[in-house]
Amino acid sequence: MLIDEAVIQKRLDVLAEKILEDFQGKPLVVVALLKGALLFMADLLRRIPVPMEIECISVASYHGGTETSGKVEFLDRTLPDVDGRNVLLLDDILDTGGTLHAVIDKLNEHGAKEIKTCVLLTKDIPRERIREADYTGFVIGDEFVVGYGLDYQGRYRNLPYVGILKDSAI
Ligand code: 5GP
Ligand code: MG
Ligand code: MG
Repeated sequence: MLIDEAVIQKRLDVLAEKILEDFQGKPLVVVALLKGALLFMADLLRRIPVPMEIECISVASYHGGTETSGKVEFLDRTLPDVDGRNVLLLDDILDTGGTLHAVIDKLNEHGAKEIKTCVLLTKDIPRERIREADYTGFVIGDEFVVGYGLDYQGRYRNLPYVGILKDSAI
């Protein structure tokens, strides 16, 4: 166990409050990255009572292992309409930054007006692209974590907490 359920839920109150302040009066489209951001998205957005559209896109970079492949693949045939809109981009974790970097590029190509990034977790490692998200839940060490949306080979996403995967489970 790294971050327990109650601690996550409390932190979401704080994140939601900041987001609410920043997006006051701005029509908002939320773009969440599947599947890792699923639980985070559901718990965070119910705390942000403003008009919003919720969109999800699927990207892959891990291919099931514990090391990123470095190449980000967009799995949807079409992307949500972000032209001229304020986007809140949600992901589970900021690791190398490759994923958010690629998605931000894509959303910019599609005419997004403003993009703010929000992640539940950020790994405390040096990064060239995307040093930090605009909203961060927790900074963690350089460990492979699962739970609260994050998987190892498709498992553990439904855990209500974030834990470090034991070597014996790999
Ligand atoms: P990045 O592109 O920033 O290197 O990695 C982002 C994606 O890699 C995340 O959306 C997540 O899917 C995956 N990822 C990175 N670190 C971890 C981790 O510790 N555990 C799990 N389960 N996925 C991770
Ligand atoms: Mg992901
Ligand atoms: Mg994964």
